[in-house]
Amino acid sequence: MKPQRTKSTPLAKRECGPCRACCQELKIAAPELKKKAGVLCRHHTGSGCGIYAGRPLVCREFLCGWRLFEELGDDWRPDLSGALIVKRAAADMPKQFRGAEYGISIVVTGGEAAIRRPGFAEYIVSLLKRGIAVNMSAASPSTLLNHHLEPEAAGRNLEATRNTLARLYRMLKAARWKRGPMMLWHLYRLEVERQKALMEKRLSKNS
Ligand code: SF4
Ligand code: SF4
Repeated sequence: MKPQRTKSTPLAKRECGPCRACCQELKIAAPELKKKAGVLCRHHTGSGCGIYAGRPLVCREFLCGWRLFEELGDDWRPDLSGALIVKRAAADMPKQFRGAEYGISIVVTGGEAAIRRPGFAEYIVSLLKRGIAVNMSAASPSTLLNHHLEPEAAGRNLEATRNTLARLYRMLKAARWKRGPMMLWHLYRLEVERQKALMEKRLSKNS
């Protein structure tokens, strides 16, 4: 299934505008710039990059998914959609997904409303059907959605898919920034959820 298309500005004309999601949400560990995820870069003035002309290479080379993928309409700009989509090399994804063109990480910054927004579940399903690995997070940790959703079934029942994504999001958000035993507890809960989904997939294949 194709994601729901919305009005789209040609990619070459897409500008970040007031969005600053990548300057805030992503971890940067380049020699010339280091910052934690979820912390606005010290060079951001509040209205844009204060060192734009001389910004580090890592920033010059970065384009979020909204600026890369034409299938995402204008309303997918990260500050509007609450979802920052990042293209990953397929080689960095789990082995069974390395044959795909690329992988995707989605950082949900807009809460459950971003998950339930029209087009979100449809886009996830379209990626899963193409065999693309999709990691979703509320910053850190993340979970691989391919383990939780069976593409055909997810496409047939989008309401159930939204509910699954929302449930996972709540677990990811609860785990956000936790450390030590608390993080282990949340990871355990995600793993139980993953095992349940795998079991259900196996049962539906055998029935
Ligand atoms: S997340 Fe995308 S649209 Fe937003 S500032 Fe970064 S590159 Fe621009
Ligand atoms: S240097 Fe500029 S473009 Fe790079 S993360 Fe900081 S504010 Fe954003």
